[in-house]
Amino acid sequence: MKVAVFSTKAYDRQFLEAANSSKQHELVFFEPRLDRDTAILASGFPAVCPFVHDQVDASTLKILAKNGTRLVSLRCAGFNNVDLNAAAELGIRVSRVPAYSPYGVAEHAVGLILSLNRKIHHAYNRVREGNFSLNRLLGFNLHGRTVGIVGTGKIGLILGQIMKGFGCNLLAYDVYQNPGIEAMGGKYVELPELFAKSDIISLHCPLTPETHHLINENAIAQMKPGVMLINTSRGSLIDTQAVIEGLKSGQIGYLGVDVYEQESELFFEDLSGEIIKDDTFQRLTTFPNVLITGHQAFFTEEALHNIAETTLSNITDFEQGRDCPYEICPQPQPGHNKVLVS
Ligand code: NAD
Repeated sequence: MKVAVFSTKAYDRQFLEAANSSKQHELVFFEPRLDRDTAILASGFPAVCPFVHDQVDASTLKILAKNGTRLVSLRCAGFNNVDLNAAAELGIRVSRVPAYSPYGVAEHAVGLILSLNRKIHHAYNRVREGNFSLNRLLGFNLHGRTVGIVGTGKIGLILGQIMKGFGCNLLAYDVYQNPGIEAMGGKYVELPELFAKSDIISLHCPLTPETHHLINENAIAQMKPGVMLINTSRGSLIDTQAVIEGLKSGQIGYLGVDVYEQESELFFEDLSGEIIKDDTFQRLTTFPNVLITGHQAFFTEEALHNIAETTLSNITDFEQGRDCPYEICPQPQPGHNKVLVS
């Protein structure tokens, strides 16, 4: 099938072409993001392949449908950037890659925890400049500390396993309990207790209306003074202004984030040498106890391989008229194991 791949980076091309050697789709790579202005590039392509920051809204979908597109094969898990109702009305089907690197994301969260705790980002720069002083590099043992995990699905559970290995106590909160947490000695509690008792809080729930700004002024006030807050899930789980106030007062002792509320204006692009106009983001970068990575938690060889394989399999399913297990529908479809949105 002829597929227009949008937001292409060199690594997307490398892994998609490798996975395609056994599938023989006709992949055409475009660097621009997919939106209403670039949708015309997909004229004559029955399938498009967008990523997380592409804008697959109703106006984009109308242009795609008019020019022959029948499948949106997302090469990511999240689908908040696709208007599923508009797609269904236009006869465009949508698929995604629901899981590709739970170990990669959990391990990245651990990387943020260790770097912040032992101030490895500062030590790296100091040693390169011949500064071997230990002043202000004091850390703490993870052993015996309490880690609060919000969202205990695939990634949250793996984070729990890793932190258990460090000798941490585990507290957890989720709307559905995962038996794996209690099996390793963790304890489910309500959010206020998790906030009050955790030395490290790590977010692993999706962004929904219920979880938007889950970490706000009120939540931060309930936390232990000097708490470490880690977010590798979605930027809008955190009210960034409230977190900045928490950092200024010392209530938040460490912040490690791989995601940011307004990240679509910044992340995945090389903006070095340019003026960053987002003052909130710039303020965050000034704190010595804040570590930001640009949505790279998923970015492992294994994940890119899995993303490419599943994306192209989804396209093959569609081409051959097979049921695709990773199709996303706006309405319940009896008899199908499909993801539903309300
Ligand atoms: P998952 O679906 O396996 O687990 C999510 C868990 O969150 C589920 O157990 C669910 O019950 C729980 N949850 C839902 N609503 C909740 C609420 N209101 N409060 C508490 N818990 C709630 O998903 P996953 O694969 O573990 O991924 C978790 C998140 O990680 C994703 O939603 C995504 O935003 C993020 N993610 C980030 C990257 C990255 O590169 N930074 C990559 C992949 C996924």
